Amino acid sequence: MNNTHQKQTMTFDGLGISPKILEILKHMRFTSPTPIQHQSIPAGIEGKDIIGIAQTGTGKTLAFGIPMIQRLMSGTGQGLILAPTRELALQADETFQKIGRSFGLRTAVLIGGASMNLQIQRIRRHPHIIIATPGRLIDHLKQKIVQLNNIKILVLDEADRMFDMGFAPQVKEILKTVPKNRQTMLFSATMPREILALATQNMQMPIRVEVAPAGTAAELVEQEIFIVRKEDKIRLLEKLLQEYDGSVLVFSRTKHGAKKICSSLRGMRHATAEIHSNRSLFQRREALEGFKSGKYRVLVATDIAARGIDVSGIEVVVNFDLPDNPEDYIHRIGRTGRAGISGKAISFATPLEQMEIRKIERLMRKMILRKPLPELPAHRPETKQAEYSERPRKIAPRQFGNRIFFPKRRMR
Ligand code: AMP
Repeated sequence: MNNTHQKQTMTFDGLGISPKILEILKHMRFTSPTPIQHQSIPAGIEGKDIIGIAQTGTGKTLAFGIPMIQRLMSGTGQGLILAPTRELALQADETFQKIGRSFGLRTAVLIGGASMNLQIQRIRRHPHIIIATPGRLIDHLKQKIVQLNNIKILVLDEADRMFDMGFAPQVKEILKTVPKNRQTMLFSATMPREILALATQNMQMPIRVEVAPAGTAAELVEQEIFIVRKEDKIRLLEKLLQEYDGSVLVFSRTKHGAKKICSSLRGMRHATAEIHSNRSLFQRREALEGFKSGKYRVLVATDIAARGIDVSGIEVVVNFDLPDNPEDYIHRIGRTGRAGISGKAISFATPLEQMEIRKIERLMRKMILRKPLPELPAHRPETKQAEYSERPRKIAPRQFGNRIFFPKRRMR
């Protein structure tokens, strides 16, 4: 949610939302629509095609969710949401359940890494909405478990990321299977040429809604950068974990890096979880849930796994490695400073990465504050991993508002 949203005093009234959904929004304590919701909901309810340029954190799930639920519950046909990652699919389902539960809304989440049998059972219950990652949906289509000939509303969520992840062939195959006579809503943080081509070929006079132009940094996030040698990064992270009290999301460029950082932090007795493609769906869910609940203070993630993570109250995002492409920097820092709360993003760059920093600054049209390196903690002897792994917390974290604080541990 950006500043513009906070200054406006819009309400959900007058957007065409049914009284029952308005009531549920009130229960959820959502009093005013975010800009993307304000622009998309009326057109979505009218059944128009929409191209939404919006990042995660802008409220885009309800921007397509409210029209989708309202239209499907008052008519026939099914909805299909395609999302790039399992986490995003599960998160969308969570939001849909909140709005749709009291209407008897049935959803089926078809994602890789989860039981096919359970998904088959869900499909047999004739869900109103299927939420799927492209690969798993294709598996079900090939086995003729699912048919898409009753789809009336299609949502392509984070279309740019689906393409970045190599799902373009699957998305195109799915598009051939869904009926032509349907409503399509496409959401993407950026609008590369091939996504635009996909939209023009598959949508009818779409309405374009845009909240933050691609490349706009989250306004509420305070950003700083340390120039640090690779071998000193872990000690700098240790120092920051002593300095800050709240929960910390750490980004690593590779899954092996994420694993290493996680095991070092556990060695320092920080309750830490990791989330990347080498972890099973169960492990990824446990890590995310544990991070949300405060069981883990630190979550170490790769870009793909973290995409769309919706956790409120993250105090600091640490870019342990700079991302491969500058746009990911914006996605990463958007994990903090959400829903009107200020946040902090701290990046580590090696002395050879000046060019990368400049690319990020150019994209954001903003300089990032260079901070001098503080005195770093002493080198630690290698700690046996098993000794500390997943050790339960002895001191319970405390919550103030929607931010979780972790009492400081005494240094060993
Ligand atoms: P999204 O961009 O859909 O992932 O949403 C980001 C976060 O904003 C989620 O935690 C939502 O629950 C929250 N959110 C969505 N719409 C609103 C709203 N109108 N008012 C306050 N928070 C919202």
